[in-house]
Amino acid sequence: MVDLERLRQNMIDAHLKARGIHNDLVLGAMAKVRREDFIPEKWRDMAYDDRPLPIAEGQTISQPFMVAFMTQALALKGGEKVLEIGTGSGYAAAILGEIAGEVFTIERHQPLATAAIKTLKPYRNIHVIHGDGTKGHKGGAPFDAIVATAAGPRPPATLKSQLKVGGRLVIPIGENPFYQRLVKITRSNQDNFFEEDLGGVAFVPLIGEEGF
Ligand code: SAM
Repeated sequence: MVDLERLRQNMIDAHLKARGIHNDLVLGAMAKVRREDFIPEKWRDMAYDDRPLPIAEGQTISQPFMVAFMTQALALKGGEKVLEIGTGSGYAAAILGEIAGEVFTIERHQPLATAAIKTLKPYRNIHVIHGDGTKGHKGGAPFDAIVATAAGPRPPATLKSQLKVGGRLVIPIGENPFYQRLVKITRSNQDNFFEEDLGGVAFVPLIGEEGF
């Protein structure tokens, strides 16, 4: 029987700390959340391999390093209001839920949203919404941080408009289905945004009114 607790600790040391994840809130959340609870049973033994794994609807649960890297890039201090686009399995939402005060997460595939509601039931601070996340969530805006776990052709204007001043949007951007750039956009004031390139990534497409 595979010792998943030990593999989770190995993931923290070998894949996260050794590769630049230093934020204690992020490391604490990654050490606590059981990734095996968010994947199909048949992949259970691979839960702590540093790779994406298939979930329903032809989608994927992201690689643990990428979840940690994107969460760290959001620069959360605890207690914030966060929006995630692309709930998928709900794993990244759970990591955010361990750190933030309130998390809204949007998924376009109804079966994934329904499954995530069930998986995330222990988290009273996470709200799963079925819909097109490129339009954000007006009812919860403005947000301290927004993260998209699917790649769009450009940063959705609506998501930028739903950031608080000082808020951060982390999103993969690019037309190439196999390679995009991860960008971090910080709202400097009401009208201005500052953009940083965080490196190359590969994500499934962001499909919606302000996506593909
Ligand atoms: N965060 C997820 C996790 O932890 O399992 C990984 C999600 S997967 C890489 C990206 C997800 O984005 C898919 O489930 C896909 O259906 C969803 N997606 C794509 N476009 C979307 C949109 N416009 N609104 C909401 N979800 C979307």
